[in-house]
Amino acid sequence: MWPASGRDDQSLYRTPPTVSGAKDFSMIPITVVDVADAEPLVVEVLRSGSIAQGRMVKRLEDAFAAVAGVPHAIAVNNGTTALVASLQALDLKPGDEVVTSPFTFVATLNAILEAGATARFADIRLDDFCIDPDAVAAQITDRTKVLMPVHLYGQTADMGRLAPLAAEHGLHLVEDAAQAVGATFEGKPAGSFGTGCFSLYATKNVTTAEGGMITTSDDALADKLRVLRNQGMRARYQYEMAGHNYRLTDLHAAVGIPQMEKLDQLSEARRRNAEALTKGLADIAGLTTPSVLPGRTHVWHQYTVLVGDDAPVTRDELAAKLTERGIGNGIYYPKVVFDYDCYRDNPGVVAGDVPVATRVARQALSLPVHPKLTDAELETIVANVREVFGA
Ligand SMILES: *Cc1c(COP(=O)(O)O)cnc(C)c1O
Repeated sequence: MWPASGRDDQSLYRTPPTVSGAKDFSMIPITVVDVADAEPLVVEVLRSGSIAQGRMVKRLEDAFAAVAGVPHAIAVNNGTTALVASLQALDLKPGDEVVTSPFTFVATLNAILEAGATARFADIRLDDFCIDPDAVAAQITDRTKVLMPVHLYGQTADMGRLAPLAAEHGLHLVEDAAQAVGATFEGKPAGSFGTGCFSLYATKNVTTAEGGMITTSDDALADKLRVLRNQGMRARYQYEMAGHNYRLTDLHAAVGIPQMEKLDQLSEARRRNAEALTKGLADIAGLTTPSVLPGRTHVWHQYTVLVGDDAPVTRDELAAKLTERGIGNGIYYPKVVFDYDCYRDNPGVVAGDVPVATRVARQALSLPVHPKLTDAELETIVANVREVFGA
């Protein structure tokens, strides 16, 4: 059973109508979907008559494998199924535990439950919003089978400590890299440390509308995932396992290929925007701008500030005032992932004490950082945040 994801909230990535009382500029959206340059490839697929999984999917897989620096990429139909399939391929038993972040999109948790495993949560760090290696160590039990860090907002978790920790305890490493295509840790790409799981949802840095990708260096795992994706079928009607239909379509893959080809430019535009925001906002008392930690490249899926408890406004007040002023913003995420009634009595959810994640859920606000922002829009964002803070 899957709790509703709330993804029918289309306002996440569409420009809302101008709010009454807004100044004479139109809304600056938190995300813009720009896939117009995919038209020739999409039309090619439409005209070819072969629209399901085929050569466009293969092209997208090759592009992902190259970016993740691994030999294998397996396309699937969304980021959640990338996580589910990666866990299913490990043949987890009931009671097997996955240690993950409490500060993530709900898909991370839902995937663990879907795979029949138990989720345990290690608190995050305040400087990267990702799982804290010390907290992870404290959550490892003799039932722990998988470590699943989430590379949140476009920056990897501390893989320099997490990868050795997983190895030392004999844990599988599954990276929720949904927000981190192109990010690196000490030169190694997200998705190359373990099994990498990416999302190609409409709001992600690279999108196919809906879509997902799994990356791995493990030949046997890649083979198993390909069979699992296709009803457990290697050749037609030859079933090797109870599988599923996790396939992506050529129509969707065609949308993503041009973005993969210009990924460096897209990430660079996000980086430039993030730098402009930090330059304009870093000195505001009560506001903490996001850090890029040494050795990591950030691909800025989100630019997320913290509104301190000592600030002149609360996070929610800042969000409301920015919306009034036509500045798109988003709260990712308003609560820690397990803190909902639907998970309260679920034996697969081991709630824990996560003070840093709880604090960040109260203080975090994401501002627009997408590649389509103009210099004028960046200035408008900065000026409005400063005004609200009286800075
Ligand atoms: C988007 C996202 C997912 C799920 O991806 P879908 O393609 O929407 O299924 C999983 N984890 C995180 C952290 C995400 O941001």
